[in-house]
Amino acid sequence: MFDSVKKELSRRALLYKAGFGFMGLSVVGAVGNIIKPAPTLAQAAPAPSNEPSLPPEKKLGWAIVGLGEFATKQIMPSFAECKKSKLVALVSGDRAKAEKYAQQYSVNPKNIYNYQNYDSIRNNPEVDIIYIILPNALHAEYSIRGVQAGKHIMCEKPMAITVAECQAMIEAAKKANRKLMIAYRAQYEPYNLATIQLAQSGKLGKLKLITSDHGRNLNPKEPQDRWRAQKKLAGGGSLYDIGIYSLQAARYITGEEPVAISAMIYSTPNDPRFREVEENVNFVLRFPSGVLANCSSSYGYSNTKRIQVFGSDAVLELDPATDYYKHRLILKSKNGNQEQKIEDKNQFALEIDHLSESIIQNKQPKTPGEEGLQDVKLMQLIYEAARTGKTIKV
Ligand code: NAD
Repeated sequence: MFDSVKKELSRRALLYKAGFGFMGLSVVGAVGNIIKPAPTLAQAAPAPSNEPSLPPEKKLGWAIVGLGEFATKQIMPSFAECKKSKLVALVSGDRAKAEKYAQQYSVNPKNIYNYQNYDSIRNNPEVDIIYIILPNALHAEYSIRGVQAGKHIMCEKPMAITVAECQAMIEAAKKANRKLMIAYRAQYEPYNLATIQLAQSGKLGKLKLITSDHGRNLNPKEPQDRWRAQKKLAGGGSLYDIGIYSLQAARYITGEEPVAISAMIYSTPNDPRFREVEENVNFVLRFPSGVLANCSSSYGYSNTKRIQVFGSDAVLELDPATDYYKHRLILKSKNGNQEQKIEDKNQFALEIDHLSESIIQNKQPKTPGEEGLQDVKLMQLIYEAARTGKTIKV
């Protein structure tokens, strides 16, 4: 077995041992013809729901950088469900917008920063962690300035545009002795954790194939899709934005790193959305255990967020797999099709609290900068495989 694979598997085993609780799954309905009793499947949950909240003064203080669609609609409301984290500061180029949200979330207006005076956040002891939710091309700069201001960093996916930027972020965090985590929410979400558990525990038999598809129609009329159509700000097209979920799924479900990659890219000619970034990416990964992954991403097909895991005894289908709030897991075997229901939890609150907890306990977060770097490296190889038409050995 490759060293990196061994290391990753033992890292995950340690994480599970290190107090990530276990939770059962229950069958709520048979999609096929047979209902079986609820299996007692172990599932890693990063923050057990019965854990009490820290008192407000003990919660770590978070600053949000970039008050766009995702920050304001998903992340900021999720602090209400956090047990170890509180929102204390905002960084925005739009003072009026920041003031509006400061009022809504009881953030002291003295804790509003802009992109020019951002570095002075170093003088604010209320801020422990900075969460970067800017267009991809700005992740590296604001993460590095953040650690240099003495703060820990959560950075949105993809970690950055280039491998060199990712390495610079990791170096800067090490030098400043600060933690750097990449916001891979699916790795904190109960249905995805159950999928990992089912796949790696042998419940599906021997794993053979994973398919994962993530797509939607890019709509540059929306401000959040305008920069996504620009290579300079987005770094890439559908692969960088949502294909990264397909890649992540293949890696976290196998617990392995791919050893061979092939790929094909196609963008509809003359579609103005794809002048700078790609529309469709299909890629195949081969893992050391022999598992193959067929993955796709698209900015042209209708909303899809799906994962399938094919084992010798059963097939698991997670669809939607990486939605914000809705997930559906079906196991298909000779006993019929069974839907498995798991207690839903706010994955954003779980990942935010995971970083606070990692800082409080001085532990490496589960998805550190190195995890983001690995995806950027692999996505670059996917582009290379598509460009050259060759299978690339990793
Ligand atoms: P958005 O455009 O809605 O938000 C980006 C914010 O950055 C805006 O408030 C914008 O004003 C600000 N900004 C600052 N400088 C800018 C510049 N030079 N150009 C453009 N905008 C600038 O985008 P979003 O959809 O919220 O995405 C932000 C980040 O979050 C991206 O990295 C994206 O990949 C990530 N994201 C992650 C998820 C997830 O599920 N984890 C979901 C959506 C977005």
